[in-house]
Amino acid sequence: MGKMTIEEKIGQLNLITAGEATTGSVVSTDVESKIKDGNIGGIFSMTSPARIRKAQELAVNHSRLKIPIIFGMDVIHGYKTIFPIPLGLAATWDMPLIQKTARVAAIEASADGLNWTFSPMVDISRDARWGRISEGSGEDTYLSSRIAKEMVIGYQGDDLSKNNTLMACVKHFALYGAAEAGRDYHSTDMSLHRMYNEYLPPYKAAIDAGAMSIMTSFNDINGIPASANHWLLTDLLRNDWKFNGLVVTDYTAINELIDHGLGDLQKVSELSLKAGVDMDMVGEGFLTTLKKSLSEGKVTEEDINRACRYVLEAKYRLGLFEDPFRYCNDERAKNEIFTPDHLKLACEAASKSFVLLKNDNQLLPLKKQGKVAVIGPLANTGANMPGTWSVSADLENTASLVEGMKAALGTEVEIVTHLGANLTDDASLQERSTMFGRTIPRDERAAEEIIADAINTAKDADVIIAALGESSEMSGESSSRTDLNIPESQRRLLKSLLETGKPVVLVLFTGRPLTLTWENDHVPAILNAWFGGTETGKAIADVLFGDVNPSGKLPATFPQNVGQLPIYYSQKNTGRPLEKGAWFQKFRSNYLDVSNEPLYPFGYGLSYTKFEYGPIKIDKNSLKKGEELKVSVKLMNTGNFDGEEVVQLYIRDMVGSQTRPIKELKGFQKVFLEKGIAKDVEFTISENDLKFYNQKLEFVSEPGAFKVFVGSNSRDLQEADFELID
Ligand code: BGC
Repeated sequence: MGKMTIEEKIGQLNLITAGEATTGSVVSTDVESKIKDGNIGGIFSMTSPARIRKAQELAVNHSRLKIPIIFGMDVIHGYKTIFPIPLGLAATWDMPLIQKTARVAAIEASADGLNWTFSPMVDISRDARWGRISEGSGEDTYLSSRIAKEMVIGYQGDDLSKNNTLMACVKHFALYGAAEAGRDYHSTDMSLHRMYNEYLPPYKAAIDAGAMSIMTSFNDINGIPASANHWLLTDLLRNDWKFNGLVVTDYTAINELIDHGLGDLQKVSELSLKAGVDMDMVGEGFLTTLKKSLSEGKVTEEDINRACRYVLEAKYRLGLFEDPFRYCNDERAKNEIFTPDHLKLACEAASKSFVLLKNDNQLLPLKKQGKVAVIGPLANTGANMPGTWSVSADLENTASLVEGMKAALGTEVEIVTHLGANLTDDASLQERSTMFGRTIPRDERAAEEIIADAINTAKDADVIIAALGESSEMSGESSSRTDLNIPESQRRLLKSLLETGKPVVLVLFTGRPLTLTWENDHVPAILNAWFGGTETGKAIADVLFGDVNPSGKLPATFPQNVGQLPIYYSQKNTGRPLEKGAWFQKFRSNYLDVSNEPLYPFGYGLSYTKFEYGPIKIDKNSLKKGEELKVSVKLMNTGNFDGEEVVQLYIRDMVGSQTRPIKELKGFQKVFLEKGIAKDVEFTISENDLKFYNQKLEFVSEPGAFKVFVGSNSRDLQEADFELID
């Protein structure tokens, strides 16, 4: 740094996009001369060793100080081999599996020249209107924190400088998932104790796991936008959490501070640097204004040095100063991407992410025989299977549901198919919902005619698979919705399919919890497939026909209707809770027109087999600080299939210095049991599991009464009482 001019230091703070996949305006022009002049620190969304080598050569052969460039990309749930969307991965509750998916994503992306991913996204969301709930791990603090850690380890491995690791970037810091009314980019206003107890822990978990970069969010927090928030980026992140990695903004987030109303570009760039931002994504506010602000005394050279040091340190950690071409290896690009092993893992992850929501009279699994009609707008679209934020997906080599099923089932089962209905009646809504090549054909005939054709196709099928729900671009960024029903066009089709009297299985595609009250009342079997990634079709065939027994559990509550949002299992009791079993009582905390219950609770998901729980046992009724308490339960597979169950442990702090949630997840175990086999499942609780941030933001436990719950979802639980004593 001693050799660097002020211009060169400021140049390092500039992160530009190559423009291959953008979510906003592209500002940078004249990239080649900017690299040579040392005005670019990093480039994202540029891929392939050849292109990256070319850009890197400009930096290390033609810029004065030969400082290498860092290359990033949104590798969110896989690179070319796409895994389920993050909400689906969370539904696996399978930590080793989740880590492996991140590892494979890092292997593939680094083989293609990259060294930085803008993942994991760990924003807690309890409002399914927000389209980006699909990109995170759902509503729960504990589950999201566990997943954040696994993802970071998967990406970064044990040594960031290896050529097959990526630097992780935890995002979006902070509280982006609590946007008001579920509208993307909207404000967040939140009490400190809720932040500390419920929303901040996943970011902290990612940092504690070693994440070397963090992205600021677009939203404002209690009146100060995250990207200019000194309390957030310096007091909390640097001083309290001791984060010593790189702070980058989200896409043009500094420029957007102008629209937030904080000043002109020079002013907001100054605010952002001073708050603790190191790198400016796309907007070039730092590049174009910081020198002037320095000369006017508005920022100091130390401010610029600090930011520059974090950028350079990231490059040292990645080994780029040792070998700037470390990640540019044509052989690796040829041999390590989209391999059979990676696809196998994608298939496993997909089938484990599916959540069986309903299965009356054991309609599933189906027998591998006869004729199956696969009907619906999601039946024949490979491009929609990867789901949102899969910009690097190989869409041409992604099978549709029908193609995947045919390949998996061969000639054993005859498959016929039909569009059945348009994605939505409203053509312009369909257009907005199928961008970036994720097309679904439209049939402009009257709905009744399309449906009549579909019924005709299905007429001598033994069973109908209705492939319905959202397109991949109906969730994700800038895809908030106020109506969470399956679109009316598709529900009409579903009604007609049910009227045929044939057994109907709804295979649901969605990036968020939907409102499925009608479907739950009328359809005998519902399999929620989220968006399963590259191997979706095969994985669905595996589950529908019983080669894989579903084991996914919901990482977010499914509401009965949109009016219940935000809804989550860990609510407070209030001063006027309902009596047990009641659904409406005057002057109690409830609605006139719908019960407080969700349609499907957090942690819920069925299996083809039957798991029975023996009585909950605890080894003592009082727990001294420093001691441990054992909670155990006998789990029995009494059904007809081998299978996996996620045994969940929750606690409740009965009396506190502040109100406490009615339940908090504090542990889970994913247990495989052959049919007819039983196993004791044991958990350990210690004082640490009982701690929370009090009103003074001290992380404390408070002696007194607690409950512990064990069971198969956040609703169906057994409980026991214990006391914490000093
Ligand atoms: C998104 C980020 C993403 C960035 C770069 C933004 O629009 O909010 O999640 O990492 O674009 O593509």
